[in-house]
Amino acid sequence: MKCRKCNEGELEVARSCRRVRMKCRKCHQEFQIHEVASDLDDKTCAILERYTAIIYD
Ligand SMILES: [Zn+2]
Repeated sequence: MKCRKCNEGELEVARSCRRVRMKCRKCHQEFQIHEVASDLDDKTCAILERYTAIIYD
């Protein structure tokens, strides 16, 4: 899925110890999951499903 800030970078899942964010590879903008929830594609959802204890802050 594409970054909604720069519209070029690919968002990747960035996990820290207690939370999961989406981070753009190009502009390094971080998004909370709920901010991009409507844009989540199947591939990203599959990655997120691997995290069993996601804290949606
Ligand atoms: Zn970006």
